[in-house]
Amino acid sequence: MNRVVGSNQQEVEATMKIHVNRVPESGLEEHISYDSRPLDMDRFDVHLHEPFKVDAFITKVERQLVVRIQVCCTLCCLCARCLDEFSVVVRPQAVFSYTVDPPDVVDITEDVRQEIMLTYPMIPVCQADCKGLCISCGQNWNHNSCEHRNQ
Ligand SMILES: [Zn+2]
Ligand SMILES: [Zn+2]
Repeated sequence: MNRVVGSNQQEVEATMKIHVNRVPESGLEEHISYDSRPLDMDRFDVHLHEPFKVDAFITKVERQLVVRIQVCCTLCCLCARCLDEFSVVVRPQAVFSYTVDPPDVVDITEDVRQEIMLTYPMIPVCQADCKGLCISCGQNWNHNSCEHRNQ
């Protein structure tokens, strides 16, 4: 979070670094958008096309830095049954704790990245009752029927 507090919150950041010396005793609240592109978060069937948002509340107690995060992230998924793209918004929450001695810079990027990737669906499905594709002609049965159906 190497930016001036109070700057434009629409700007997109590439790293999540906390300067421990800048965290006041009352704690520090941050609301920032992060660019997922440098973070290598894509899976063949899950992509992040938009920056994700992190709300963080950072407190410092002696040598412990505690970071509570609430993420809002849009996943663009490829349905395993019908191959249509669909989006889903995930909102993982987590609490990270770091020992800082001496106070320095803490990078929470990898921890946030993992929290988001844990929310990826094992097998993305656009809807619970997705009808899938016809194995004979490839018709998407969610949109249209075909002569092979109900055989
Ligand atoms: Zn589907
Ligand atoms: Zn068919």
